[in-house]
Amino acid sequence: MGSRTPLPDANARSHPEIREAVAKLCARFPGPYWQALDRSRSYPLEFVSALTEAGWLSILIPEEYGGAGLDLSAACAVLEEIHRSGANGAACHAQMYTMGVILRHGSPAQKAKYLPEIAKGALRLQAFAVTEPDSGTDTTRITTFARREGDRYIVHGQKIWISRAEHSDLMLLLCRTTAREEAARPTEGLSVLIVDLRDAVGNGLTIRPVRTMLNHATTELFFDGLEVPAANLIGEAGKGFPYILDGMNAERILIAAECIGDGRFFVDRASAYAKEREVFGRPIGQNQGVQFPIARAHVGIEAADGMVARAAALFDAQLPCGSEANMAKLLASEASWAAADMCVQTHGGFGFAEEYDIERKFRETRLYQVAPISTNLILSHVATHVLGLPKSF
Ligand SMILES: Cc1cc2nc3c(=O)[nH]c(=O)nc-3n(C[C@H](O)[C@H](O)[C@H](O)COP(=O)(O)OP(=O)(O)OC[C@H]3O[C@@H](n4cnc5c(N)ncnc54)[C@H](O)[C@@H]3O)c2cc1C
Repeated sequence: MGSRTPLPDANARSHPEIREAVAKLCARFPGPYWQALDRSRSYPLEFVSALTEAGWLSILIPEEYGGAGLDLSAACAVLEEIHRSGANGAACHAQMYTMGVILRHGSPAQKAKYLPEIAKGALRLQAFAVTEPDSGTDTTRITTFARREGDRYIVHGQKIWISRAEHSDLMLLLCRTTAREEAARPTEGLSVLIVDLRDAVGNGLTIRPVRTMLNHATTELFFDGLEVPAANLIGEAGKGFPYILDGMNAERILIAAECIGDGRFFVDRASAYAKEREVFGRPIGQNQGVQFPIARAHVGIEAADGMVARAAALFDAQLPCGSEANMAKLLASEASWAAADMCVQTHGGFGFAEEYDIERKFRETRLYQVAPISTNLILSHVATHVLGLPKSF
């Protein structure tokens, strides 16, 4: 008999030290902390500061700029553990990956100016402004326009659903610098500007919070003659669309990891409750009608986790990963939602009680079938780009 390659340990998780340290930090921010913020729709400042101080939000920044220079799979482990603990990384996840646009497409001067400060936590780059009320997912139809005048751009337009704009120093803005009709192709004529929100607010930029069913610090933005230095243009004018697309792959994979964390939170909570809650003289989890949905949710999360790991590995190897990033986000967001529904059902009436955190997490995890890209748009990508079916739009 020849020697066999050992089978991977099914229970082994990547980056165990990272997971342990993040879980320890999150334990300082238990359910009541999140419940109080949720009630008042307030930003988790103390939690974000603790993550920043511990260096978790700068792990993707290369060491030469003061970050930890770790890969995306390490960042996935951080966000998964945050979500598994019952916390919500959405308040700060963009600080991890939005800088990737500057890192990959910024000038040496922009990298030197911003990346070390972002790595230190002295500058917050939490906001990424793409979506507009009239364009929806059809990004090439955005109309926010930056007109060049000498050494600055003058910006007019409107954005919607721009999260964390009130809790960020900088924002990446996708806008048109050539009208769609005048561009050679719809994807051309789009540019990315770094907006310094500290100067912009009240000087051509108005931020208005949008209250939503979850505590997400999202806003709408109104640009009325905002001046942005031309030195803040990333890369080439009119060529910004691909810059944001490759940032979106990282975003989708990391958000998929958050969904995996949510799913594990729901499975953990449901399993614990089903073991301890006794009805008809026995634990409810002894009934297969209760235990099978928990087991099914676990199976769904494990399967989705495999796709998240595959997408992250491709990203880290700098290989094309657009389809895998999309598929990972679709599978993980659907698996976490199924787990959320199962967890409410397992808890009966207590699934609706604020103090159990289930209803809050249920609302929070629902977002990810819509943002940052909705399920239908992912299916459309897979149908046309992977399977070669005719385009419907
Ligand atoms: C809480 C929250 C935070 C957000 N944060 C940010 C942010 O920080 N920055 C940012 O830029 N954006 C942000 N977004 C916006 C988010 O990315 C969009 O809401 C999302 O991409 C969907 O776009 P839309 O809302 O315009 O939906 P639409 O494009 O109007 O689509 C509506 C529905 O129709 C479906 N649909 C549309 N066209 C088709 C088609 N051809 N075939 C089949 N189905 C179709 C979609 O799948 C969707 O279900 C956020 C949104 C929310 C709710």
